[in-house]
Amino acid sequence: MATQTAPFQLPPLPWPENALDPVISANTLSFHYGKHHRAYVNKLNELVQGTRFADMTLEQIVKESAGKDQKVFNNAAQAWNHTFFWNCLRKEGGKPSGALASRIDADCGGYDAFKQKFADAAVNCFGSGWAWLVEKDGKLDIVATSNAGTPIAQGQTPLLTLDVWEHAYYLDYQNRRPDYAAAVIDKLLNWDFAAEQLEKAKQRKAA
Ligand code: MN
Repeated sequence: MATQTAPFQLPPLPWPENALDPVISANTLSFHYGKHHRAYVNKLNELVQGTRFADMTLEQIVKESAGKDQKVFNNAAQAWNHTFFWNCLRKEGGKPSGALASRIDADCGGYDAFKQKFADAAVNCFGSGWAWLVEKDGKLDIVATSNAGTPIAQGQTPLLTLDVWEHAYYLDYQNRRPDYAAAVIDKLLNWDFAAEQLEKAKQRKAA
């Protein structure tokens, strides 16, 4: 996927649509993945056809369109963010371990403090957006982005994200975004995926 150019395909989910039930229902995923994510990919393919973006990877399009071409950026970033988000989730959940756990302790004040800060970022993100655990300037941090905003456009390395657009939770939680955030953070976060992102960033820096 990293080297692919348009037309982009909707990547398959890393698990069956009912795998995250009841924290995120199959019904929610059928709309969120099957309709919303698919629409961003389709719209992006329409927009980039015959443009300077046609020969770029998805990540390059996100970076090159940021602050310059809002329509392309919105659809490219949403296509990228959603694929990343699905990989941040798994039915087994878990907790950080090893080197990543040490970084969470050092930079976020421990796992419990991380959970609180990440939930706060999710709940306090006004309107639509995303909460993120990122590495920036050599430290882990928790940030929120609005709408399609994504840390990869700002030179940061995302490790985990939580989609807090209403389409991510409204069918299961209605207006209760705090309940959705707490449940996902407690039960679904894929810390092995987060650790892989940190390791890849380290290898990129060493290269
Ligand atoms: Mn979404």
